[in-house]
Formats: sequence, C-alpha cells, structure tokens
Amino acid sequence: MDIKPRTTRKIKIGSLTIGGDSPVAVQSMAATRTQDIETTARQIEILMRDGADVIRIAVDSEADVEALATLRKRFPDCVMSVDLQENYRIAPLVAPLVNKIRYNPGHLYHLEKEKSTREKVEFIVDAAKKNNCAIRIGVNCGSVDPDYKARYSDSIEAMVRSAVDHCEMLDEMGFENYCVSLKDSDSQKVIEANRRFAALRPDVPLHLGVTEAGLPPEGIIKTRIAFEQLISQGIGDTIRVSLTLPNEEKGQEIRVGREILKDIQEGRFRSVPENFLEGLNIIACPSCSRVENEKFVDLAQDVRRMTEYAEKYKLTIAVMGCRVNGPGETDDADLGLWCGPTRVNLKEGPKTLGSFGYDEILDRLKMEIDRLILERYGAAQSADDE
Ligand code: SF4
Repeated sequence: MDIKPRTTRKIKIGSLTIGGDSPVAVQSMAATRTQDIETTARQIEILMRDGADVIRIAVDSEADVEALATLRKRFPDCVMSVDLQENYRIAPLVAPLVNKIRYNPGHLYHLEKEKSTREKVEFIVDAAKKNNCAIRIGVNCGSVDPDYKARYSDSIEAMVRSAVDHCEMLDEMGFENYCVSLKDSDSQKVIEANRRFAALRPDVPLHLGVTEAGLPPEGIIKTRIAFEQLISQGIGDTIRVSLTLPNEEKGQEIRVGREILKDIQEGRFRSVPENFLEGLNIIACPSCSRVENEKFVDLAQDVRRMTEYAEKYKLTIAVMGCRVNGPGETDDADLGLWCGPTRVNLKEGPKTLGSFGYDEILDRLKMEIDRLILERYGAAQSADDE
C-alpha cells in the first residue's frame, strides 16, 4: 500500500509541533481522579516513562484546577493537555497551566443555556489566545451536539458538520492553532468520519482515536484497523489508543500506538483475524478521572471472561465507567452497563433494566444475554453447553 504524505498545517502544543510533515505524536490520558494528586502524578510518570508526547488531564471544577496547578509544578516539562468537560467556564483558570485545551462541542449546551455556542467558544478561544495554548475540537459519537443530532439522521454527518462549523468559528475568531478529533467506538465510522472531514478541511490537523475500543487484544485490533486505513492515506497527525487497562498498565497505550505507527511506516499491515467482530463485540471505555469505583476495570475484564460462552452470537455489550457519559454511550449497545459509586446500571439499548450491586451484576447480565440469544436465535445457551 502506498503511504500518502500528510499535508495539514502545523500547530504548536507547547514544545511539540504536530501537523504537516511532523512525526505523528502519540498521546494518552490520566485515568485517575485529578484531585488524587499522588495517583495522578504516578499516571503521568508512567505515561512519560513510555514516551507520551502529550498527556491529558480531566478538569471539571476549581478543586481540579488546584490539583492541576500542583501537578504542573511537579512536571514542568510535560506537554499537558486538559479536557474541559461540561464546565467550559474554567478555561481561563486552566489555560495558564497547560499547553492545549480540548473542548467537546456536544457538551457546551449544558451550562448557561441563555448564551450562544459562539459566545462560549469565544470565551475558550480567548483564554487559549492569552496563554498561547492550542485547542482541540473533540467531537465524540456518544455526545454529539443535540442540534446536529436532530438535523442529521446520519450520525457520521452530524459529527463531521459539527466539527466543520466549529472550525469555521475558530477561523473567524482569528485562531489557527487548533486540531480536530472525530471519535467513535466503531473503527469503520472513525475511518469514514475522518475521511469526510479531511476532504472538507484538508488543512486542519487531526487527532485520531477509536473511543471505547475496549480490552486488549480486541481494542488494539479495532484501533489498528482505523489507524492503518487513515494514516496510510495521509490522514492523522496525533493518535491516542484508548484501552481498558489497570492504571499501572496505562503505558501500554503509548507502546501500542508507537508499534502501530512503526508498522504502518514500514509497510507492515496486520491482517484482521478471520470473523473479527462478526460475533460478540465488547466495547469498554478506557476509564478516566470520572470513574467512581475502581472495580470498573476488573468488571470489564470479568464481563469479557464471563461472556466467552456467547462469542458466536452477534451482540454488542458496552461497559462504561461513569454516570456522565455512561448512559448516553450505552444507548446503541444490545446490553449496556454503566458504573456508579456502588451500583452498576444495566440497560437494553436505551431502556434501563435496573441497577445492581457489583457482586450481582454478572449473574444478571448473563440472564439477559441468555434471554436475547433465546429471542434472536431461538437457542438456550449457557456456559455449560459449550
Ligand atoms: S465513560 Fe466516563 S469514565 Fe469512561 S472514559 Fe468516558 S468519561 Fe471517563
């Protein structure tokens, strides 16, 4: 396969340049609660040790900003990005501490409903300009701006149009130091969204990622499928591999990212295992500061083990770590789990089935899987049948 050159404009994220012919940067995110300074510092150390070019921290409150200030003092050379969650108002407080601000166009409507999206974007851009920060317009399949969702029945088009319109806003505000991401948990949708966006805005650097790719090895394969198709076509300037891993193993995201890039560069395209995702597909989020119960990663691993018996059935099970994005991002799954502090919520598509203790959920999930298999395939299936 011919590798096409990348031709976006260059942008600066602190000491790092991405875009154009700069090497594709590899980044990751601290999965810990930002206010737990020691565990977050440990995450940063792990990611830096494995060579992360950019490390992202989630910030949603002034207490998080204080924690961020402490972390910044400890890691003055780290190229830091911050994830503004719903609380865009804290942009001026975080901008002096970091090199890049990510905002999600789909989260801006939550606060100050009387203000227009443009006013809110202007507020963030102003903070970035004053502090020499880059911006990422980060569009995500599970939280697309409701206006765009209503306007476009095609979910990919809704994501692309939202990103393109935000780029136009930033252009009109005279701000060029930005990149865009369009993430989905389905590799094919990531490929399509990024291709469509790159055709409309070939100048804008792209941050690639398959969100909620899940546990290795499937999560790595899903990511590889998207990155191979895009980067070989000259699309993608920085990458994040999102894997569901214990905190101490988060460095694997960076190592896997580098391995995929090296393979693409050297023309080694790994073939996808036969029948990949034709049966059971487990989607799991990579966890972040919003996880309220550390049992989340263990639960995701247990779900994978417990569901092995149902591998041949085409079912999607989503396991999400928090109540903020969990409810929305499980809507499209056949069965979805999202974790609260003491209970796990179980859904079938958008319908809630109930909430269960961490020690009860696996049995209940199995009951629901067996029911779906019986309804759809007319066969009772259990672990003992195999
Ligand atoms: S679903 Fe929640 S915990 Fe998981 S990565 Fe997204 S925001 Fe973080």
